[in-house]
Amino acid sequence: MKSSSMPVLFIGHGSPMNALAQNSYTRFLNKLGEDLPRPKAILCISAHWMTEGSWITEMAQPKTIHDFYGFPQALFDVRYPAPGAPDIAEKIISLVHDPKLHADKEMWGLDHGTWSVLRHLYPKADVPVMQLSLHLEQPPAYHYKLGQELRKLREEGILILGSGNLVHNLRQINWDEKARPHPWALEFDQWTKEKLSARDDEALVNQFLESEAGRLSVPTTEHYLPLLYVLGAAGKDEKPEFLFEEIHHSSIAMRSFLI
Ligand code: ZN
Repeated sequence: MKSSSMPVLFIGHGSPMNALAQNSYTRFLNKLGEDLPRPKAILCISAHWMTEGSWITEMAQPKTIHDFYGFPQALFDVRYPAPGAPDIAEKIISLVHDPKLHADKEMWGLDHGTWSVLRHLYPKADVPVMQLSLHLEQPPAYHYKLGQELRKLREEGILILGSGNLVHNLRQINWDEKARPHPWALEFDQWTKEKLSARDDEALVNQFLESEAGRLSVPTTEHYLPLLYVLGAAGKDEKPEFLFEEIHHSSIAMRSFLI
């Protein structure tokens, strides 16, 4: 990693309840926020903003979005009042030519994929935050290539943060806190670790659905795709540092890493 360049991050976010928790996972995020070079702004690619076309939030005060139901009122009361960065968003739009990014001035804000993580990473909410949406109709290669387009932002002090889960199967979830991982979840989580360590981006972009374990771990792609932005934004010679590696609720990999 060049010292002048910001690292890129992938964080497994898991249950929205992590926003309220105090545990080994949230302590890991607290510490990471203290250790990272302070970013000028954060660009978060969250699993929870899916659109047609690629959009970037461009509002001065993005609202906190509670995009879930069936959780305690305390979670709906959470606000993450970080400012936006309209000037930087505008600059990003002008820097990325293909695909064309659209400016979102009113539709979105910060969803829980973003604020459940940032609440622990930057508890003071004093770093400006933008979100970039997932254009779900596009193939994996599109997301990887867009990540490559974003790489230059690292030189501008912008932290690129992918927030998803590499294993995410809600049908196979076990809410027991001590639930053991499903074997296929362990298998696929290990596969991602090996491919990340080898920086075999080709496999991570194109082969994740080739195994039964992969198909069970990625039944829908939205929690996996933020990974491809992070990989694209990282130089090929940069190796990941694994920061957190648990599997929660049998079917949610919390694997988080920095490149
Ligand atoms: Zn999620």
